Amino acid sequence: MATISLIDELQKPIPFSGHDIPEDDLLRACVHCGMCLPSCPTYRETGDEASSPRGRLWLMSAVSDGKLSLLDEDFGEQMYQCLNCRACEAVCPSGVQYGPLVEASRSQLEQHRQRPLWQRVLRNTVMSWPFDDVRRMRAGAMVLRLYQRSGMSSFLRKTGILRIIGLENLERMVPDIEEAPLTPGTETWTPQNVIGHAHVFNGCVMSSVFGDVNRATGRVLAHNGYATDVPVGQGCCGAIYSHTGMLDKARVLARENIDAFERAGEGTIVVNAAGCGSALKEYPHLLKDDPVYAERAKAFASRVFDVNELLDKQPLVPMSSPMAATITLQEPCHLVHAQRISAQPRSLLKQVPGLTLIEMHESSLCCGSAGIYNITRPQMADALGDRKAKNAIATGAEAVVTSNPGCHMQLRTSLIRNGSEQPVEHIVSILDVAYGGSAANSWAIDDYAAKPSDPSRPQSGI
Ligand code: SF4
Ligand code: SF4
Repeated sequence: MATISLIDELQKPIPFSGHDIPEDDLLRACVHCGMCLPSCPTYRETGDEASSPRGRLWLMSAVSDGKLSLLDEDFGEQMYQCLNCRACEAVCPSGVQYGPLVEASRSQLEQHRQRPLWQRVLRNTVMSWPFDDVRRMRAGAMVLRLYQRSGMSSFLRKTGILRIIGLENLERMVPDIEEAPLTPGTETWTPQNVIGHAHVFNGCVMSSVFGDVNRATGRVLAHNGYATDVPVGQGCCGAIYSHTGMLDKARVLARENIDAFERAGEGTIVVNAAGCGSALKEYPHLLKDDPVYAERAKAFASRVFDVNELLDKQPLVPMSSPMAATITLQEPCHLVHAQRISAQPRSLLKQVPGLTLIEMHESSLCCGSAGIYNITRPQMADALGDRKAKNAIATGAEAVVTSNPGCHMQLRTSLIRNGSEQPVEHIVSILDVAYGGSAANSWAIDDYAAKPSDPSRPQSGI
């Protein structure tokens, strides 16, 4: 008898336990209508119900109800096959908050599932090192910039050495680092007539690889009346950890950022990376059980604006440099779905004199970047990247505009793989050039400024 009950006990499904358990009332909100299925990129690619939002919510509910083990292989596979793109959330009539559910489910997996040793080492060293202290990432970007400028990069590409050592695809994702990384506290931008104060959220990849875009953000904000600075003490937003089930590490970074922007004083917190903006706006949920930071997280989040959102609050100050060019818009998931910002970038682009926006088919379908998804799940990421590239190419536009570093790099790689030389630009780089911004920072778009649009002319390469 005792043996039978021991076997029963051992066969019992392993439940959610510990911290960050997917909330039951959030799970129960799903009425299984299936309206989210067509918007889900993994469902669109596989046609498999298990790879859909509804399928994944069934799996989470089954674990929550004790019908499925947390360590079930399909559960683990589906929680990480999901891109956390939030497209399902944006169309759900029941208001299911899918993002917090999948992030909690991943946290459960990380608490209870033993990863192989090499993965644990990788996650806690190589992956964490540059995000825990962004100065390290900026130092790495300086080295990378030197590597690109010394000619070493093109030598290794041409000789095929990068391909032989398996780094060709990874290297291709990194854009040319045009300017030195932007260090907080070193630069400010002052308008002629001040209408408000803006503190730039510098980010990790944005400050390191896209320092030119962060500076362009400062200039464009100043053109539009915002006295702008980059507060010291800020770091990575923590999205990398929220998306990979390491919520405690995300909380450490969230607290540091709240401290830094409180010290910076009053003013709007402006973000030009959709993924970071979404993460910053969700600090109240991340820190809801923190007695010291819960209320402060709400005050912090109320100050956060995506740059598209802030600039579109009023008509832009007129731009002096017409850009006779055609562009198309790729909507980052964490801008359009998580923050529901879609009309604002279009409105801003339409105010650029001479610029023509050509809408892209499936502009809001995930490009496959999704944090480190394109590294951990290259097959699905490539399929989605190819789909996005084909849609971008079909527009015939001269450049693709977006506003998230992950999308930027994924689009660039996917376009090259599909034989296109369309450059990828951040929206503030376009606005900056239209305001006559520094030519040095506009590595492709300056070719288009004030020139007649000619779809047959060779594109400037990236
Ligand atoms: S998540 Fe929303 S849209 Fe999808 S099945 Fe559930 S209720 Fe329907
Ligand atoms: S977050 Fe995106 S990939 Fe994940 S289930 Fe929702 S729509 Fe599908």
